[in-house]
Order: sequence, then C-alpha cells, then structure tokens
Amino acid sequence: MPDSPEADVPPECLDGVAAVYAELEAELDRLGHACRACGDCCDLAGHGFRLYLSTLELAFLLDREGIDHLPQGAAGRCGFQADGQCTVHRHRPLGCRTYFCDAEHETLSPLYESALRKLRRLAEQYGCPWNYSQKYPPEGE
Ligand code: SF4
Ligand code: SF4
Repeated sequence: MPDSPEADVPPECLDGVAAVYAELEAELDRLGHACRACGDCCDLAGHGFRLYLSTLELAFLLDREGIDHLPQGAAGRCGFQADGQCTVHRHRPLGCRTYFCDAEHETLSPLYESALRKLRRLAEQYGCPWNYSQKYPPEGE
C-alpha cells in the first residue's frame, strides 16, 4: 500500500465498512429499488455527476480489489467502468449504491447521509484519518 491516508485503515474497520454496506443494501432491497446495470449513470460528466469518496470507502475499495490506486477514467467517466459495466460492483462506494435513475433523489439522500455518518463514526472509533473528496471525474475535468 502507498503512504496515503487509506493505508492507515485497519482490517477490523474495513469489515465495519462491509457491514455498513450490507445494512444499506438490505434497506435498498426492502425499498425495492432496482438497477438494470446499463452503466449510463457512470458517464459522470455526461450527467453532471461527481463521485465523492470518503477515506473509508476508498480504503475498502482498494483493499477488496487488491489495488493501490484509483484507475484513470476516460473522458469524464469513472475509472472502474469497462465495456459499459462496473468492474467493482460488489465494492462500489456509497454514491453508486444510492443512485437509482428510477428513484427520487429525496428518497435516497437520507440513506446516503446515514451510511456516511456510520462510516465517519467507524473512522473515529478506529482512529482513522477522514477525508471526503471528489475522485471522478478529476477536479477541473
Ligand atoms: S441506476 Fe439507472 S442509469 Fe444507472 S446503471 Fe442503473 S439502470 Fe443504468
Ligand atoms: S464505481 Fe462502478 S457504479 Fe460507481 S461510477 Fe464507477 S463504474 Fe459506475
């Protein structure tokens, strides 16, 4: 792992991130939101979207995917999209889990905020650094 904040997140904390995601997915299932995985919304710039990640989301993604940095995205797209599909679906960050083109944003925004607060508490519990910043598209793109 490189010398970066996400390298300081211990395995127990990453397991906590997995638990937060599992709880969120159960709630999304209960609400009945469905995604047909067409990949349209991963054209972030094309939709005016910005993908923000907290330190814990990034640490979880890098750890579970066995990589040490975020790949560069092509032309405003997320770097994890290939052939129109998400290549990290199981480990994707919160913003991707709580966007559904068939749902009102107001419905899912509280779920996002709630899960983010849980991650923040986890970071505090384990004494991890906390950062929340735009990852895709890169700033200024
Ligand atoms: S949320 Fe909608 S646009 Fe995005 S991948 Fe799923 S079906 Fe496609
Ligand atoms: S992580 Fe996956 S779902 Fe999220 S924007 Fe990137 S390709 Fe799309």
